[in-house]
Amino acid sequence: MKMILLGPPGAGKGTQAKLISERYSIPHISTGDIFRKNISQKTSLGIKAKEYIDKGQLVPDELTIDIVNDRLAEQDCKNGFLLDGFPRTVKQAEALEDFLRKNNQKIDTALLINVPSEFILERMTGRRVCPSCGASYHIKFNPPKSEEKCDACGSDIVQRKDDTEETVKDRIDVYEKQTQPLADYYKSKDQLFVVDGTQSIDEVFETICRHMESEK
Ligand code: ADP
Ligand code: ADP
Ligand code: ZN
Repeated sequence: MKMILLGPPGAGKGTQAKLISERYSIPHISTGDIFRKNISQKTSLGIKAKEYIDKGQLVPDELTIDIVNDRLAEQDCKNGFLLDGFPRTVKQAEALEDFLRKNNQKIDTALLINVPSEFILERMTGRRVCPSCGASYHIKFNPPKSEEKCDACGSDIVQRKDDTEETVKDRIDVYEKQTQPLADYYKSKDQLFVVDGTQSIDEVFETICRHMESEK
């Protein structure tokens, strides 16, 4: 199964990606997580990416496409993968299509988690993440079992530097201008499935699983 997750910041892509990747045993590839790891290790990619991420802008396509192509070439992606946060521009979507076409492959589903912008600010400012394993929590909607610690790995959870009210507004703008057109892109290829992301985490996951089963 080859799947991509679309949706505005805070839609629940990372949350659902973890659940889907466990249920269907496919690797979860998050470009945001890859960038954050590089930032914490101060690699040259991390240093370049940080400039954009801190401002809520997209990292340039050239950098992003290369890291995804390298990741998809790894052995564990042969039977499927789940891309979370990529593609985010039409250029990235085209690059992904080219890459897969060379191996006679294509995306099975582009899953759009739809959440209107009025929900987003509360989700983002209440988000806490695990820097070790990438798990995402919410102080109100999905708190960890033990305060401040990741359920999955026990690390201290933190607030992302780009999850401030100001940066979130910029990220919503960027999403509407650069990423939203991808819904039409995948719709025209008959690959789009839209799920209502205002439901609970469990309900969204159920809806996604039902769709996956119907596609088999
Ligand atoms: P994205 O990866 O799309 O930016 P996340 O999965 O990190 O989104 O979720 C953003 C925030 O909203 C997190 O704090 C998460 O716990 C919370 N969240 C995710 N899905 C839901 C949901 N269906 N209802 C309420 N809160 C949610
Ligand atoms: P969110 O889960 O809140 O949607 P991500 O963790 O996916 O955010 O991404 C964080 C930031 O990393 C983005 O705001 C952007 O600056 C950068 N980024 C992630 N994926 C991409 C991509 N495909 N293209 C360009 N920039 C990206
Ligand atoms: Zn963790």
